[in-house]
Amino acid sequence: MAIKLGRRSFEGGALLQEELIAVGRELYERGLQTTRSGNISVCEGAMFFITGTGTNLGRLKRSDLVAVDLRDSAPIPPGASRETPVHKAIYNATAARAIVHAHPPYAIALAQVAKQQGIMPIHNEGAAGLQWVPIIDSSVRGKEAGEDPTAIVAELVRWCSVVIRNHGAFAVGPNLDEAAYKMMLLEDVCKIACILQSLDPANAT
Ligand SMILES: [Zn+2]
Repeated sequence: MAIKLGRRSFEGGALLQEELIAVGRELYERGLQTTRSGNISVCEGAMFFITGTGTNLGRLKRSDLVAVDLRDSAPIPPGASRETPVHKAIYNATAARAIVHAHPPYAIALAQVAKQQGIMPIHNEGAAGLQWVPIIDSSVRGKEAGEDPTAIVAELVRWCSVVIRNHGAFAVGPNLDEAAYKMMLLEDVCKIACILQSLDPANAT
């Protein structure tokens, strides 16, 4: 079914909405999202769907999803997540076709104490799937503001995930399943690093 967006239509839009609802629920059930945090999006052609600002990703409805035009000149519709400019910039600069933004607790904690500018995965799955997880500083200024896309995009051109100090993480993929998997893997990598660090402080990240 095509979703109308102004004079343009969004082919396959209904299927993408179903995927967003299912992946939002899975991320919530796995503890990667709280009732108010995070946002996810999926792109097709020159459009993408993103979750609305303040929506509960565990209980998404079609009416919570906002269709956004990728063109720089197109305005961001009201009600779209405050991180929509970041999603738009990522789609326009990389091959990503799905994005998950979450506030994973282990990743946030580890980024706070990390001495390096990123996290090297310890286990095989993490190393194969992520290679390296860069850590950058948050650019958020004010309660209602989103992140500046520049530093996030600069990392996601090269890597499939990035952790933002004092905030959360972004993970990308060619589809929603892959982007969600990368976010889950990122949190596993950080959880393992936190456990290792507590067992042996000499192994600090
Ligand atoms: Zn956030």
